[in-house]
Amino acid sequence: MAEGLHGREKLVFLETFGCQMNENDSERMLGLLKGLSYTRTKDPSDADLIIINTCSIRDKAEQKVYSILGRFKSLKKERPWLVIVVAGCVAQQEGEKLLKRAPHLDIVFGPHNVHKLKELLLQADSGRKVVVTEQTGEISPEEYGIEPVELEEKAFVSIMRGCNNFCSYCIVPYTRGREVSRKSADILSEIEGLVEKGIKEVTLLGQNVNSYGTGGGGDDMSFPELLRKVCRVEGLSRVRFITSHPKDISDELIRLFGEEPRLCRHVHLPVQSGSDGVLAAMGRGYSVEYYLSKVWLLKKLYPEMAITTDIIVGFPGESEADYEATMSLLRTVRFDNIFSFMYSPRPGTTAAGLPDQIPLEVRSERLQRLQEEQKEITNERMRGLLGRTLDVLVEGESKIDASELSGRTSCNRIVNFPAPVWLQAGPGCLIEVTITEAYQNSLRGEVRAAGC
Ligand code: SF4
Repeated sequence: MAEGLHGREKLVFLETFGCQMNENDSERMLGLLKGLSYTRTKDPSDADLIIINTCSIRDKAEQKVYSILGRFKSLKKERPWLVIVVAGCVAQQEGEKLLKRAPHLDIVFGPHNVHKLKELLLQADSGRKVVVTEQTGEISPEEYGIEPVELEEKAFVSIMRGCNNFCSYCIVPYTRGREVSRKSADILSEIEGLVEKGIKEVTLLGQNVNSYGTGGGGDDMSFPELLRKVCRVEGLSRVRFITSHPKDISDELIRLFGEEPRLCRHVHLPVQSGSDGVLAAMGRGYSVEYYLSKVWLLKKLYPEMAITTDIIVGFPGESEADYEATMSLLRTVRFDNIFSFMYSPRPGTTAAGLPDQIPLEVRSERLQRLQEEQKEITNERMRGLLGRTLDVLVEGESKIDASELSGRTSCNRIVNFPAPVWLQAGPGCLIEVTITEAYQNSLRGEVRAAGC
């Protein structure tokens, strides 16, 4: 590797697919690579190191990895010192098989081995092919708390990893292992360190944060107790968490929204289906009635609360009546937004072996109808905010119009706004914006007051 690099700045190209946990893993990789004086490049053809942090939640995500790897084959010919790495859930799922499929690969490592990146690069430096998919039942201190590099006003903080739920369609328990919680003291000191660096908002991450402290690791602190402590860290403006499992969301957690003003008014509560039969086949562990009881309690206590969800259509055996039950759940709950997907059989999951697999064209047609239905509901929810004055945490330049600024409400909605001349507000500043326009994915408004 050193040969092509003498005296020249080392460049890394890193592409991340999938969930916030992968985003956080990539941030940790960049932190480690900074220590090896790598700088990030957006152009893979300039890179000395290429890392693809992969997602395996659906077949489409997995296929994307192979097409990208195909593209890098020629690069390797031109730049023999180039090191190509596949990380994340496809790396964990496929391991050695990836090297056979893409012989130009150098390193393959799973999500439990992010903190070993430096030593894996050294091993590859000696010309060896490296595959590490070891999964451990505990979280070692050096795994987290790695100096972040590219953060401004907000940060992800993993509080645990893995999942013990084994929903019948899901590959995550196989690629991310059993639930292990981090020690609350490690989490709180990481957050205090982030606040010292100017971070104003943290998002606590876990496949199922509500079971924090119940699996391995941790130190007998429940999720609501941890969340209350995090909300009291001096200097923080906002706290978010993702993802909750409906069967584990406690009334104690729901009450916390009324007691902790820094806790953002948004809950992502994946329901997956509106049919009890499908929920049972998915192994979700709750009924539609139970799910609705939690939603109605949240809406009754906090009418301004934003509730979003995940939905899978076309699960094996899903009848038209099951599907209609999902559509009626949408019309009843009126989610602020949904993340919706066609069922995709995943290797090693029980659902992949179920009879009555639904044909692709039926799954795709159901997904389209569902998304059209939700589009109307989301627009209606967004229009409901016209004329309201909302707290917005400034994030920086608007992605729609670079002459404007952008930020997010407590409900996680994007707001774009022209910056009045008197406004001295940069990323991390809390301001008040009156909403004047509403679109499907964002709002627009005028600044009323600034808190910085
Ligand atoms: S709760 Fe279910 S869907 Fe979510 S990560 Fe765990 S197994 Fe997968």
